[in-house]
Amino acid sequence: MNLTKEQIKSDYQKKLISLFAEDLEESSVLHQYIALAELVKEYSFERWMKTNKRYKKEGTKQIYYFSMEFLLGKLLENNLINLGIKEVVREALDDLGIRLEELENVEREAGLGNGGLGRLAACFLDSMAALSIAGHGNGIRYKYGLFKQKIRDGYQVEMPDDWLRHGYPWEIRRIDKSVIVKFGGYVYFTNENGRFTAKHEGYEEVLAVPYDVPIIGYGTETVNTLRLWSAEVKSRDFDFESFSAGEYTKAVEHKYSVESISQVLYPDDTTEKGKLLRLKQEYFFVSAGVQSIMRTFKKSGRSIYDFHKYVAIHINDTHPALAVAELMRILVDEEYLSWEDAWEITTKTMAYTNHTIMSEALEKWPVDMMKKLLPRIYTIIEEINRRFCQELMDRYNNDWNKVDRMAIISGGWVKMANLAIVGSHSVNGVSKLHTDILKYQELKDFHEYYPGKFNNKTNGITHRRWLIKANPELTNLISEAIGCDFLKNPRELINLEKYKDDKSFLDRLEKVKYNNKLKFADYMKKTQGIKIDPNSIFDVQAKRLHAYKRQLLNILHVINLYNEFLDNPNMDLLPHTFIFSAKAAPGYYLAKKIIKLINSVGEKINNDIRVNDRIKVVFAENYNVSLAEKLIPSAEVSEQISTASKEASGTGNMKFMMNGAITLGTLDGANVEIYEEVGDENIIIFGMTSEEVINYYKNGGYHSWDLYYQDRRLTRILNELDDGYFAPRGEFKEIFNHLLTYNDEFFVLKDFASYCDAHKKINELYKDRFRWNRMSLINIAHSGRFSSDNTILEYAKDIWFK
Ligand SMILES: *Cc1c(COP(=O)(O)O)cnc(C)c1O
Repeated sequence: MNLTKEQIKSDYQKKLISLFAEDLEESSVLHQYIALAELVKEYSFERWMKTNKRYKKEGTKQIYYFSMEFLLGKLLENNLINLGIKEVVREALDDLGIRLEELENVEREAGLGNGGLGRLAACFLDSMAALSIAGHGNGIRYKYGLFKQKIRDGYQVEMPDDWLRHGYPWEIRRIDKSVIVKFGGYVYFTNENGRFTAKHEGYEEVLAVPYDVPIIGYGTETVNTLRLWSAEVKSRDFDFESFSAGEYTKAVEHKYSVESISQVLYPDDTTEKGKLLRLKQEYFFVSAGVQSIMRTFKKSGRSIYDFHKYVAIHINDTHPALAVAELMRILVDEEYLSWEDAWEITTKTMAYTNHTIMSEALEKWPVDMMKKLLPRIYTIIEEINRRFCQELMDRYNNDWNKVDRMAIISGGWVKMANLAIVGSHSVNGVSKLHTDILKYQELKDFHEYYPGKFNNKTNGITHRRWLIKANPELTNLISEAIGCDFLKNPRELINLEKYKDDKSFLDRLEKVKYNNKLKFADYMKKTQGIKIDPNSIFDVQAKRLHAYKRQLLNILHVINLYNEFLDNPNMDLLPHTFIFSAKAAPGYYLAKKIIKLINSVGEKINNDIRVNDRIKVVFAENYNVSLAEKLIPSAEVSEQISTASKEASGTGNMKFMMNGAITLGTLDGANVEIYEEVGDENIIIFGMTSEEVINYYKNGGYHSWDLYYQDRRLTRILNELDDGYFAPRGEFKEIFNHLLTYNDEFFVLKDFASYCDAHKKINELYKDRFRWNRMSLINIAHSGRFSSDNTILEYAKDIWFK
């Protein structure tokens, strides 16, 4: 953008006045932030309008990314970078005596997601805009995002994330684009002019109000839209009668019940609870989204039979899978298409991404619940299922078991993954390994039936947030070395390779890392009062807490180091800081116990003067995008240690790699591709392979007690867990039982020895600073392959514009 410093200064001061009737002297930092955000948003408007006009005029196919979660993080700096005005704005503010960083600190991040899946959706939006692809988000404007985490006495405490408290300057409420979403009621069928017609009556109407957020493309004029829906009552639904009669609570009861739909994000993405409110949320944003897409499409005046040529809907995991039935409903009930035509259009419109093979995460809804809440949608799914099962019966000679496995409705359940697969023309996994597991194990039946539908799209991350924004020092160093092409095309990072044996360059790389470590240490001191030695190795595991991600393996190894060090204070051990950051789902008992264990072990080790800071354990509270942006650039070791076959892709692994950390990981998810990319000598791999894991599962697991008896280290650690060494006796009983009584479902003990060896290797490698920095550089150089720009280009080529 062509903006001068003087222009910005003048615009900014006017903005303060027009918003708050305040001048600079009187305004608070909060108001100064809001004014700046409003101004930056306004700067995007011209491009936004032009983009929309261009799409309309050129009839560009529109991609709609439907996702229950968008983990956006803060937007101010990102938008400044993407508009190309960060430096000039900083200078303008400097002149006015305002520090840009201070305003950025005031912003509350939009934490409308749990973890990887929601962050992926946010990275994809950023990439689609940067690549000038007409791709938009469709989701829910939760009033409360993912809870804020505090640690008290070592336990996780959850607090509401009131992110909208000061308003959200990046959105525009568009009441005129509201739609009605219908819940409940009953359905009957009649014959209308010779046409078999469904009638839906007696339903409740919920008003879906869209809030649009501009998604600003980097180095392009494109501005796309993230549309987030909020549930409201239609004004005439206010119970005025009760209100007049003085029954104020009753009068607002209905309002609260409706608003509850977009009230709060479910804080768990790994276990399926089958809750009614969740089903309401899913249908709410899907129906609102599809209706609004249809409305826009109809305005174009094009034939409804060409819908799929102008619209693609992408289903991010199964949460939006009802989009299949909702589009069928609109095409059949409102556009009067034949079932066959509607089905062809629908399947050509929809594409589905699978994110997990963990059975406890696979969504299914009780038939009775769906019938009651979404009677018309249920009858549509029934018909899709009836026709699909008929096809299967014909094809498989009435093989009832197979048909039952593949059916959408079975045993009183509606299976969302099956609906998504049957209703889409494309089904993709999120890493090579994950896609292979889908094709040859989990979704084998479907892959045999629809071999052409399955494809892989390895996840990616946007280098604009995870390198340019999060790590400006590294960005500058890289620019000096290889020029600025990588800013636009992250594949250019590969040119860094020519410095891999350049000692002086590697020293500078080390210095950048050291500065980032200092910054993170400073952050921990300020926020949690914890001192970290910047000369220790920063060994980081930051991600949601889940048994399969195996934070437990990490902390058991720390305990082992502690034990070994006390036995032999002369042991060969460089100073290490083990940094953990993770939220546990509030109802996930074991995960919360693991947080407590990490903190109890930390408490003991950090206060043991004998250890003398050779080992330190730190828990960084409230892992979110903003914290990730500070923590990841400081990391030297990236812990990616999930049980092989369990982590579909991971994206944290890519962020760490791009910032020069060395991956210590299993051959799981995208780690496999990182391994292929950097080569054996630039990554540390340990543990069982996914094949071995899957074979164990097929044969009923293994006997963890045997390991407990055989490996003296494990005997000691587990006894310490049990006997009150770290916390009063009984505190870690569940962990002990999980590992031994319940046979260690995620092979923590099984991989322990191999993991300890891997850490020894790290300790050894780190001593050779040249060697280590060389590894770090090679990781950065090869990280362009994991840019989400790359991923999005493949979605476009193979799925949306095929
Ligand atoms: C990237 C990211 C994740 C995903 O991390 P994984 O290690 O892939 O599970 C989760 N939370 C936040 C805040 C992230 O930025």
